[in-house]
Amino acid sequence: MPMPKTISRLKWLSGLLFGILFLIAISFAFNLENAIQKHVIAKKLEAQHHGMDILKDPGIRVIFAGTGVPVPSKDRGAQCIAVIANGELLIFDDGGAGVRSLAAWGYPIHKINKVFLTHLHSDHMAGLGGLIGATWIAGRTGPLRVYGPDDSNKLSHTLYPPTSQEYQTGTFTTGRVPDNRRVFELGKPDFPKAPKDYVPGIDYVLRGISMAYEPDVMERNGNVQTRESAPWEMGFAIPHPLPDMESAGTAPDFGWGELKTVYESESGKLKVKAFLVDHYACFPSYGYRIECGGQAVVISGDTEKMTYMAKCAKGADILIHEAVNMRMLEAIAAVLEEKYGDHEKAGHYRGASAHHTDSLDVARTAMEAGVSRLVLTHVIPPIDPGFIHERIFVKGMDDIFRGEIDVARDGMEIYLPPAASE
Ligand SMILES: [Zn+2]
Ligand SMILES: [Zn+2]
Repeated sequence: MPMPKTISRLKWLSGLLFGILFLIAISFAFNLENAIQKHVIAKKLEAQHHGMDILKDPGIRVIFAGTGVPVPSKDRGAQCIAVIANGELLIFDDGGAGVRSLAAWGYPIHKINKVFLTHLHSDHMAGLGGLIGATWIAGRTGPLRVYGPDDSNKLSHTLYPPTSQEYQTGTFTTGRVPDNRRVFELGKPDFPKAPKDYVPGIDYVLRGISMAYEPDVMERNGNVQTRESAPWEMGFAIPHPLPDMESAGTAPDFGWGELKTVYESESGKLKVKAFLVDHYACFPSYGYRIECGGQAVVISGDTEKMTYMAKCAKGADILIHEAVNMRMLEAIAAVLEEKYGDHEKAGHYRGASAHHTDSLDVARTAMEAGVSRLVLTHVIPPIDPGFIHERIFVKGMDDIFRGEIDVARDGMEIYLPPAASE
């Protein structure tokens, strides 16, 4: 039976209406998508802009980009501390992805041009290769200088391009790395083999990193990285060996408890001073004291309890110190033995104080040094971030040190406003 005309017209009209509504919904969704995209881009650029703005702040800013130890943790990256002072963004250690985290949080990583390593354990320097590349790709326009322990017996620099001197004087050939300047000849039988008494330092480490990343640098130089402002040389780093034991056999160039300026800004306002710390067999290892506008931040690096730490940290506004809680480790060791019979691992935990400083000794150091604030990082055991865990970790410390005590978390930022006299 044929459908009455009015019903078929109604059907046709409702179909048309549905179609129109559908088109409106699509265009609305499309516009909404565009609006969301615009908003996201604006927010990202705003964050990067904010990142640039904080370089102008007059005080000192400390960002904890990685607060962990060699044992991987979902909450704590390996060691990496950023310090922003006098318009510079300095990095102290990068044992993993600290600089990548900084970039993700909106900090202007292309402004990084100096990295200071406390020592050459992997949880403090394994991020170097990625850091060199990431800052270069982000638009770093100047050389990246890496300060760290010296090689105890220098190898020839002939395989290392560009040499520091070439780099600094600009006498290198620009453009694609020429074949005769290849960083290393892979498989070459005389590729640096460490002599028996050889202690590899920053030259040696950067040599290896240059070799590993040479294919990446060369490829990017030919493709992505064609900006004149960021040529291929920026894909490598310049080693700045710290003063060490070379001049006097086994004795360091400078003594225990002595601070040596290893970097000073042109105006003289910002100074980075290094001092020796005692990290068992990992010698030399360093701590750093960053001074700017009458304020000071001290980074202990990895060290066992050291008498001279209080002298080197004297009067600092912030002391950032590694810490092991031996009471917590003893509790873990007891369970390992009783429940799992793992005496070897238990012994390993009990031996931690030979390489690291117990939390109560850290509190004593802070008290002796008269610092205003103490921040613990590189905490062993690597506790989960959270109030309860942190309270257990610092237990007993506030009986010894009366200032503020914090356990650093990844992403934590501290801003020290300029001193009143500044
Ligand atoms: Zn270490
Ligand atoms: Zn470490």
